Amino acid sequence: MRKPQRDKYLPIGNNKTTITSYIKDMLVVNLMKNALSFSILSMLLLNGCNGDRDLSEIEDLGVEPQKVISLPNSDKNEMQVLQEPHSSFMIQESTPTNDQELREYLYNKYQVPKEWGEFIPGVKTQVSTDEKVIALTLDACGGTTGSGYDAELIYFLRQENVPATLFVNSRWIDANYWTFWALNRIPLFEIANHGTEHRPLSINGRSAWGIKGTENVAQMTDEVLLNHRKIEQITGKAPKYFRSGTAFYDDVGVKVVYEIGETPVNYNVLGDAGATFSKEQVRDALLNAKPGSIVLLHMNKPNSETAEGIKLAVPELKNRGYRFVKLSDYPLK
Ligand SMILES: [Zn+2]
Repeated sequence: MRKPQRDKYLPIGNNKTTITSYIKDMLVVNLMKNALSFSILSMLLLNGCNGDRDLSEIEDLGVEPQKVISLPNSDKNEMQVLQEPHSSFMIQESTPTNDQELREYLYNKYQVPKEWGEFIPGVKTQVSTDEKVIALTLDACGGTTGSGYDAELIYFLRQENVPATLFVNSRWIDANYWTFWALNRIPLFEIANHGTEHRPLSINGRSAWGIKGTENVAQMTDEVLLNHRKIEQITGKAPKYFRSGTAFYDDVGVKVVYEIGETPVNYNVLGDAGATFSKEQVRDALLNAKPGSIVLLHMNKPNSETAEGIKLAVPELKNRGYRFVKLSDYPLK
């Protein structure tokens, strides 16, 4: 975190009267204890408070610094305090605790999100309908271990005429350019945005599943926007839905996604747990879907059992009267 400019923040508190009184009180006490204080006290009182100019600047910060005020450390040797020049009384050794508290206060106010997770407000998790429809969403995460292509899964969906929404990461596109290009041309599928570097959308670098999140709004923007532009450029169509790498967001990240013109979408059925489920687990997860469920699956792990599990579940779900839809077929909630 960038350190605040000391001279701007140093007069900790907008209540200069309190601080000045405190200082004067302290000086008086010490004066009574030690005659050596007298000359310093006189100098300070004669000179007035050199910090006045700084104290007025605090009002420009727009914060409430009084909340972090604590008077100078009581453990500090009073003589030591007195022997310091007044102009540096609040600037140097006597207030490190206050500066730290101010840092923490400002950090908490501006850098700590109010929400964090996969299911925070603003993130859609269901298709808004009571009809027996299910939306399959297939992530393609990219990266060294995530750039495979499950051709068997896609082939099955096409055979069964099962639509799906494909959340594609920028790195996966780079590794599978022509596959991506071809998938985009299949009307059964729609392309959505799974991020540029597959990072959780965090304002302060929070990690999820061991993956380091973005660290500020600029990085959040790039995480959404660069892949948005890439998809738009290749397909001629801007993606409407976004899912962050790991599916984690904070509330600032959710806002950034909307500002860029996409809707953050997660799920209410965990279909393959990062393509780690057995085919039976995938099947059982899918068979637990309800009307309007959004299922999270992966199409980038051809060695997983995801495709097999989907093959087991789709006929059964059709028998139960379900049909499959793309996210854009219905409003989301
Ligand atoms: Zn992913």
